[in-house]
Amino acid sequence: MLTLRNPATEEVICELPHASVADADAAIEKAKAASPAWKAMAPADRSKVMRRFADTVAAHVDELALLETQNMGMPIGSSRWCANAVSDVLHYFAGAVEKHTGSSIPVAGGIDVTFHEPLGVVGLITPWNFPMLMASWKIGPALAAGNTAVLKPAEITPLTSIRIGELALEAGIPEGVLNVVVGPGRTVGQRLVDHPDVRKVAFTGSTEVGKQLMRGCADQVKRLTLELGGKSANIVFADADLEKAAANAPGAVFDNSGQDCCSRSRVLVQRSVFDRFMELFIDAAKAFTVGDPMDPSTAMGPLVTAGHLAAVRRYSEGLETVFTGEAPDGPGYWHPVMIATPTYDDPVCHEEIFGPVAVVIPFDDEADAIRICNDSIYGLSGSVWTQDGAKAIRVVRAMEAGTLSVNSNSSVRYSTPFGGFKQSGLGREHSMHVLDHYSELKNVFFAT
Ligand code: ADP
Repeated sequence: MLTLRNPATEEVICELPHASVADADAAIEKAKAASPAWKAMAPADRSKVMRRFADTVAAHVDELALLETQNMGMPIGSSRWCANAVSDVLHYFAGAVEKHTGSSIPVAGGIDVTFHEPLGVVGLITPWNFPMLMASWKIGPALAAGNTAVLKPAEITPLTSIRIGELALEAGIPEGVLNVVVGPGRTVGQRLVDHPDVRKVAFTGSTEVGKQLMRGCADQVKRLTLELGGKSANIVFADADLEKAAANAPGAVFDNSGQDCCSRSRVLVQRSVFDRFMELFIDAAKAFTVGDPMDPSTAMGPLVTAGHLAAVRRYSEGLETVFTGEAPDGPGYWHPVMIATPTYDDPVCHEEIFGPVAVVIPFDDEADAIRICNDSIYGLSGSVWTQDGAKAIRVVRAMEAGTLSVNSNSSVRYSTPFGGFKQSGLGREHSMHVLDHYSELKNVFFAT
């Protein structure tokens, strides 16, 4: 049995049976059986039923938001934003069905035609930090490209994924096209990696588990996309609009309690404006209220579980901070926001904490900023703040990261590619690019 607790109160929300490996096999079997008809459906019809799915999600935003907040502690405003985004993502990929077309290439002696063929059954393994949003990022392109899917949500936060599976059926997505199996990663998740009928695994989670999956997929040369950890840099140059950069910096680290792979948790600040920036940053962080996630004015809720709180505390206890915010006492898995300026060799400057802890590191010049930014095994996200356009272009081109922003900390949109360099991942999500990761490219030569 899985006991799910509300992280803000520690109260038990519900108990769920664990799926077994046999349940995973049954779901894979159902997905396989549903595959030929879904693949053969006219693209316009597949698009229409996906739009109905998106509309059905939109009609249940409040319900999904409440489930997400109760299950993982996300502030209700963010949960509502995510539920709306799930619908938007599904709409985007409903629209993409008919646009992911092949090409014809004139060659000597004939013509070459390319086709994007669905893979068949795909396994979708999602994390607990943005449960329904991460599910939609995978369900949308998987189904649009003509695959059927088995979704395995993180076992501690499965409620919105289960509901989305039900809404898919209500909307008319044929039975077997989207299956949701709730169980542990090491058994049910691993089965998606091992089962020969699963042709691809799309994973979002820790770098450590991602590496394990990559080894597991090697045996069958199974297609794999990975969206893993990060330690992203928020680079503030002396010529930036410091007020704006500082006003945005807390949300860039502390949103979702820092449980965000895109979190800009390393704030790199040019030495000449370091003190001024710190004053502004700390002021902005003071306004970042931590409390009841059901209160719409709350900026940050609890961490997801007692176990994760303990993991974050291993970094933050004993850390010398320049600012520590306030957080409620228990019950609940509360952690205050923290800003620290540790020495560069401290592990908090390099390891992903996945909690509300920002480290601020000074730099001297452009080359120094780029060097520090790229001195990481990760390369997911990052930001540059400057009013010099040419410098912004030079710096973002030099940053070894996949998802960047200039004079903003926001860079994730379903119409633009998302993913990481280095140990932050493999492949891209979102945009039309992702469809290439959910299909095989076939080329056929027609002799004329
Ligand atoms: P986090 O650190 O965010 O909890 P994990 O990488 O542990 O992330 O988990 C992300 C997802 O991967 C979850 O759905 C989890 O159940 C699943 N998972 C964990 N271990 C495995 C595994 N060995 N094989 C397949 N999936 C796994």
